[in-house]
Order: sequence, then C-alpha cells, then structure tokens
Amino acid sequence: LTPVPSDIAISRAQTPKPVDQLAAEIGLLPEELEAYGRSKAKVRLSLLDRLHKQPDGKYVLVAGITPTPLGEGKSTVTIGLVQALTAHLKLNSFACLRQPSQGPTFGVKGGAAGGGYAQVIPMEEFNLHLTGDIHAITAANNLVAAAIDARMLHEATQSDKGLFSRLVPSVNGVRRFSPIQICRLRRLGINKVDPASLTPQEVGAFVRLDLDPSKITWQRVVDTNDRFLRKITVGQASTEKGQIRETGFDIAVASEIMAILALADSLEDMRSRLARMVVGTSRSGQPVTAEDLGVSGALAVLMKDAIKPTLMQTLEGTPVFVHAGPFANIAHGNSSVLADKLALKLVGRDGFVVTEAGFGADIGMEKFFNIKCRASGLRPNVVVLVATVRALKMHGGGPNVSAGAPLPREYIVEDLGLVAGGCRSNLWKQIQIAHLFGVPVVVALNVFKTDTQAEIELVCQIAKECGASDAVPCHHWAQGGRGSLELAQAVNEAASKPGNFQFLYNIEMPIVEKIRTIAQKVYGADDIELSPEATAKIDYYNQQGYGTLPICMAKTHLSLSHMPDKKGVPTGFVLPIRDVRASIGAGFIFPLVGAMSTMPGLPTRPCFYDIDLDPVTEEITGLF
Ligand code: ADP
Repeated sequence: LTPVPSDIAISRAQTPKPVDQLAAEIGLLPEELEAYGRSKAKVRLSLLDRLHKQPDGKYVLVAGITPTPLGEGKSTVTIGLVQALTAHLKLNSFACLRQPSQGPTFGVKGGAAGGGYAQVIPMEEFNLHLTGDIHAITAANNLVAAAIDARMLHEATQSDKGLFSRLVPSVNGVRRFSPIQICRLRRLGINKVDPASLTPQEVGAFVRLDLDPSKITWQRVVDTNDRFLRKITVGQASTEKGQIRETGFDIAVASEIMAILALADSLEDMRSRLARMVVGTSRSGQPVTAEDLGVSGALAVLMKDAIKPTLMQTLEGTPVFVHAGPFANIAHGNSSVLADKLALKLVGRDGFVVTEAGFGADIGMEKFFNIKCRASGLRPNVVVLVATVRALKMHGGGPNVSAGAPLPREYIVEDLGLVAGGCRSNLWKQIQIAHLFGVPVVVALNVFKTDTQAEIELVCQIAKECGASDAVPCHHWAQGGRGSLELAQAVNEAASKPGNFQFLYNIEMPIVEKIRTIAQKVYGADDIELSPEATAKIDYYNQQGYGTLPICMAKTHLSLSHMPDKKGVPTGFVLPIRDVRASIGAGFIFPLVGAMSTMPGLPTRPCFYDIDLDPVTEEITGLF
C-alpha cells in the first residue's frame, strides 16, 4: 500500500499461520515443539540430535555501517532477505534474530521486529514478553545477587561451626555433602566425602567464601531503562545488621547470563558456564564463583526453558528463530549459537540462515567473528552490510541526527557530495573490516522514500569500487520480500564462492595485544591507553589463567572511535581503556572504553507516551 501503513497496522492486517503448521512445513516433528499460544513455540534441542547428519546450510551475517541513533534497518533487511529467499526464490531460509529488550521498546528506539512489509509477526508479542526468556534471565541473575548478600550476612554473623551445621544439616542424625558442596571441596583440594572427617581448618575454608565487599562484580538487573538504579545502597534495614554496601543495577540484557544463553551449545554447556561465573573476589584474592555459592544448579533450572529458541514467522510466513538479545555496545550483540545451529540443520545444504549482529560492523560483526564463531565453530559465507543514505550523509559531513527530532534538510533533499563522502569514509572502512576476516561483502542499501535515484546509484557504484562483491538497493520496507529480490540473488551468488575465513587475532596473544589489535585494525586508533585500574585487572586476570579468552569491547556504537560525535573514519586518536572486567562463564574479557553505561536512562519523552491499549478490543497502539 502507498503510503506504507504503520508497523503495527501492517502486522495486525496479516493473520499468522498456526505455529504447528509452520513447524510441520519446515520439517519439525510435533514432539519437538512446545507451543506458547497460537503463533509462537519453543523448539526442543533434541532436534539437533535428530538432524546431526544433515549438512548445514549457508550462513549469512547481517551487519551495518556506523548507524545514526535511529537504526539503519539491519532487522528489516534480515527479514526482507529471508522473505525474498523463501517466498520468492523458493530457497529454504531462516532468520535468527535477537529478542528485543523492553528498555529500548519503552525508551528511545522502540521495537525491533523489523518494520513496514518486513516484519516478524505478531510484532507486539515479539516486542513484549515473548516466551519469558528475559524474565528468566532476570530471575537467575538476581538469585545470584541475593545469594551473595545473604551469604556475606551469614558469614559475618555466625561461627564456622554454626555455618557448617546449617550448610550441611543433619538429617536423621546423618550429615551429607550435596554434589555441589563436594565440587567446592575438590576445588579447595579437600578430597573427603564424610563431613565428620573435616579438620577445623578445612571446615573454616569450606564455609567461608570471605567475599571482599569492595570486589564484588555481580550487579542486580532489571529490563527497564531505570537510570536511578545505576548506583544504589543495599542492606539498610536493621535486619541486615549493618551489612551495608554500594552496588548497582544493569539492564537485564547486559547480564552475563544473557551472554551465556547466547553462547551455550547445550544444556550441559550452559550449566557449566553458569557454574564458572565469577561474582567477586575473596579477601585473599581468590575468585568466587556461582558454584561456590551453591546456586548454579538452581540457575540451570531457572534457565531450562530459556535455552530453547522461539519459533515465529515473518509477514510472508517464513520461519524465524528469536533467541537471546545481548546489546552489542555493552555485551557481544549476537543472537544465540543454538538458534543458528538448529536453523542451519533445518534449511539443509542449499538453504540460508540469516543472522544479525548489533550496531556497526566494528562492534557486532567483530564480536560475531571473534567471540561467537570461535565458540560455535560455525563459519559465515557472506556478510551483508546495511547502509542508508541518511547515515552515509551523516558520515560525509552532514549534521548530527537525533532520535525524536526532525531530520535536517540535507537528509531529505538530494546531496551527492555528502553521500559520496560517507561512502568513501565509513562504508569503505566497514567493508575493509569485514575483509580482515576474509568474508565477501554484499552492501544492502536500505532505501527510504526520500532517497533519489542518483543517490542510490552512487552508493552502489562506490561500494563496488571499495571492494564489495556486490551492492544493491533494497525496497523490502515498502514492498516486502519482492523488494529484496536483488539482494537475495546477490547473496546467493556471493555464497557460492569459496570462503577464506580467518580470525582477527590469535587467542593465545596477551590480553593487551588483543585489545590493541582490535583498536588499531578495526577502530583505526593509533594506540590504546590503559588506566592503572585496567592494568591491575589485566595482571590479575593473567594470574588467574584467564589470559586466553577473547575480547568483548564495550564501546559506543555511534562512532568507529570512542567519541560518539566523530563520524566517518576518525583518525589520530588513542583509545582509552577505563576498566576491564571478566565474564568467565560467558568466556570473554570485557574492556570498558570511555564511560559506557550498562544501564540506559529514559529521555524526556520516551516511547511509552504513545503506547496504549484498547480495553474492549485489546488492541495495542503505539508500538512501532
Ligand atoms: P536496526 O536493526 O539497524 O536497528 P531496524 O531494522 O530496527 O534497524 O529499523 C529501525 C527503524 O527504522 C524501524 O522503526 C524501521 O521500521 C524503520 N525503517 C527501517 N527501514 C526503513 C525504510 N526503508 N523506510 C522507512 N523506515 C524504515
């Protein structure tokens, strides 16, 4: 239709096919499906065993140039591409998307179900609670936080003997260690199974985690942009006996448990990653884990359904997995390994799995290759790099764009100079970054109605001069899959060429060298500058044997550099590393570049102003 109706009007005008019908169409057995209502279902991991002999399909990553704060359409391109591949070219395909956080949905950016005629439906279910995975993560994360504070209180107020008799209670006159407690004893080097045989020193070592309150790294989480929780004080009730400490909240999608959900490749792997999570350090400098707190089994129980990807569909009835949703600027920014693996088996050798990495290629794509592909063993065949004329104009010297404000005039009228400037700077650089990994790039220009023919042709021409295998305009937002046919053909063509994938850095390199390699080769920095705190943490991580983990940079998505207002290809800067953290369960070292907040705030006029419900029809308005 012209003009294109609102996202929610389009979504509502299409009745999704029943999820069991969709599941049958893609070859799932009824017993592999757990329906949540009519239009979404979790898929059991037993499917991987059934299909393990099936060859994988082709693996396509959708990344982008450095975006404006409005987003440049990676989700819409992903959905448009699978609609074109399956509904029009008749090739099996699957889209694998991240579950949106309710922070942006009610805050600045709005929903993430795609848009126009390239959407996942029903979009309100996609954007809201879905199948409860983020709630499960929040519950698990906060159980760990509660376990930490309660344990410190109990250790502060009880003797070794008192703690021991409560931790190993006598049942019918017999004390027995639980399996988790036996694991803790083994880690302490105590190979005894009879509680009565422990010496008083061994009892003391066993019962006291002796967490240093100033070295607790675990925070509470909530899936709301609630800036007033960035720094809080807990333990102020008199019942907590003066165990007061400062801590804070992160947004739920920044929880290490979200990263674990995205990287685990089985229930067993998830269970052992949850156990390895380090929550803080003891006064003697030893890392304290979720396993030490005795909570890892309970976490696995809370997460047992969340590990199954959720099956939904596009507007054109093609299959989509929605699973995990770490942000790319403060976490690793990719949907789950399990969803990709299941989808690659389901589409078969000639099919396509299109998965999306958050923000610009310098962030989401770099982490996709260096963290996710390292963990999964999967290798992508093609990178689709999404660009828009508006973002290219911004990189070419146009004024800054901000969410909620009208677009400046330069972005609405033809300006070939600004477009060319953006192509020869940011677009060129992001193509080169993908080439560092040896993967061919197809540039997808997501066309807006204000783009002119001359601007579109110019982008495609310069993109090819910059080394892209192909560059094509995409009209999926206005036309659905039909509008992405050229992209589907270009991707099919690029995927048939032999790949030459390589990692950016050797995992054995020292932590500092890995950070420097990303800063120089990907961001274009002259060098890095470590704060004394960052240096001390790196030394500690090396001592603890964490030196061979990959790196997950926490950096602004609005620039290749750490300075959000530096557009194009910034040069002549030194990347400041303010602090370094470690997510041992997820399996990465996490440098904080500049002042990155792990809890977003709400703007003066958040998206929730427009969201409402008709109490008679139950129709939701204002989600876009
Ligand atoms: P990203 O995944 O890169 O953050 P999205 O695909 O979520 O971006 O798109 C951001 C917003 O822009 C969405 O509201 C989407 O509907 C809108 N949008 C995307 N492409 C177009 C287009 N070609 N024309 C108009 N609006 C678009």
